[in-house]
Amino acid sequence: MPHVITQSCCSDASCVYACPVNCIHPTPDEPDFHTAEMLYIDPVECVDCGACVTACPVDAIKHDGSLNPAERIFLELNADFYTEPRPRPLLAPVVPPLQVRAPGALRVAIVGSGPAAMYAADEVLTIPAARVRMYERLPQPGGLSRFGVAPDHQRTRAVSRQFDAIRTNPRLELLTGVEVGTDLMHQQLLAEHDAVIYAVGASADRPLDVPGAELPGVTSATEFVAWYNGHPDFTDRSFDLSSRRAVIVGNGNVALDVARILTTDPDRLAATDIAPHALKALQQSKIDEVIAVGRRGLAQSAFTVPELVGVTSMPDVDVVISESELKSLPDTDPRARILRDLPRRPGNRRIVLEYLQSPTAIVGESAVRSVEFARNELVAAADGTVRVKPTGELRTVATGLVLTSIGYRGRPVADLPFDDVDGTVPHTAGRVNGIRATYVAGWIKRGPTGFIGTNKSCAQETVRSLVADYNSGLLA
Ligand SMILES: Cc1cc2nc3c(=O)[nH]c(=O)nc-3n(C[C@H](O)[C@H](O)[C@H](O)COP(=O)(O)OP(=O)(O)OC[C@H]3O[C@@H](n4cnc5c(N)ncnc54)[C@H](O)[C@@H]3O)c2cc1C
Ligand code: SF4
Ligand code: SF4
Repeated sequence: MPHVITQSCCSDASCVYACPVNCIHPTPDEPDFHTAEMLYIDPVECVDCGACVTACPVDAIKHDGSLNPAERIFLELNADFYTEPRPRPLLAPVVPPLQVRAPGALRVAIVGSGPAAMYAADEVLTIPAARVRMYERLPQPGGLSRFGVAPDHQRTRAVSRQFDAIRTNPRLELLTGVEVGTDLMHQQLLAEHDAVIYAVGASADRPLDVPGAELPGVTSATEFVAWYNGHPDFTDRSFDLSSRRAVIVGNGNVALDVARILTTDPDRLAATDIAPHALKALQQSKIDEVIAVGRRGLAQSAFTVPELVGVTSMPDVDVVISESELKSLPDTDPRARILRDLPRRPGNRRIVLEYLQSPTAIVGESAVRSVEFARNELVAAADGTVRVKPTGELRTVATGLVLTSIGYRGRPVADLPFDDVDGTVPHTAGRVNGIRATYVAGWIKRGPTGFIGTNKSCAQETVRSLVADYNSGLLA
């Protein structure tokens, strides 16, 4: 009867170092850590000691006897990861403690207060006498762990308890309502600190570039997410929820979050910490169908398997997908197992997953009335990758709300170099290229990939570079 990792896993790897038999993988030093959708427990090796349960900040680990019916798929998902033999040491390699060899107390400025900033601060503060001053442009700290994670993901949002605990360290000073680059410049930060870490996230949207995209009723999922989470920049937004169908362009995890929030019974949302103005609007909503459309096929879907489990296990919402799409997946694919034989329950709202279509125009006079899509087919490119090719067939979908969810990207940071293609700050192991004593962590460093906990190993790498530079006298 092993323990099992479930949907809310955010990949922070705390459980890895708690496990006495090294049966939780991939570990941060293993090559597949950065591509894995979660961590998995080897059911054969687990000795059921329960140490990982206490270590997990988001209550993701359960004894298999306490899984509810919707979570039982995670038994298979955990076991599947170990189908191939996996060589491993007796214990996961522990990250050695940081050591400062230069005299004096290290002073670090951190810009941002999201997950990457908090993990970076936690790492710096392991050094005796080191001090951190954190600058956040918003009145409240937390970044996307507060204003991005969906309100119905209560277990994931519990990670904020860990960040709250880090903030109680008396050697950390948090200054909110300060935008670096506007209220305070980089040179001022450098004058007062030994080093500056930018953990400013990737808050810009990739825009939808089709005729009509500027019509009222077309907006980004980013704005919708920020609105329902009470982000102070977006509380005055309003969304037209009066038509019966919403269309989401994109099918990643954010698209699924938005589809869930639009279809969940508001009585259930009322039990979460959704923003009151959003709850009120959703209580009046007429939307009973959300179509999430991807330009490629089901096999190339951007959502992760744990998120798919979350959306298909809603009691009051049916997930609909065509048989032909399902056939495109081999039976062994976990997504096929999850999507096969989904129930159809009369009266339920619906989330429809559609594929192989690209929007070509948003149609309407004073507001969106429909979206025109071109159908695609998949073709193998010369380099072996799969590309989409329009078939020439068009279809029109009536809707009053279009949300675009086609990716995030970083914004340029004042006084720092910027890679306009990737939307990141160019760096080497966290050191900003060509600028002294300046570092990056989180999404502005590696782009909008991974989960909350992925920022932990990312921030640790950055702080290790910073301390190595301090010890070498490069920050003097
Ligand atoms: C909609 C959404 C839902 C998600 N849901 C989940 C989930 O359920 N589970 C999960 O594991 N991961 C989830 N993620 C991913 C997770 O939120 C990210 O991995 C993580 O937040 C990235 O951390 P970060 O610190 O790099 O950036 P952010 O969290 O964006 O933090 C950046 C911070 O910097 C501040 N800032 C920016 N510029 C400045 C400036 N010039 N001066 C001062 N402050 C500044 C911002 O206000 C912000 O507080 C989600 C992401 C999104 C977008
Ligand atoms: S219950 Fe114990 S042995 Fe099993 S995964 Fe957790 S820490 Fe490891
Ligand atoms: S969230 Fe962290 S501690 Fe919890 S299961 Fe995932 S990797 Fe382990």
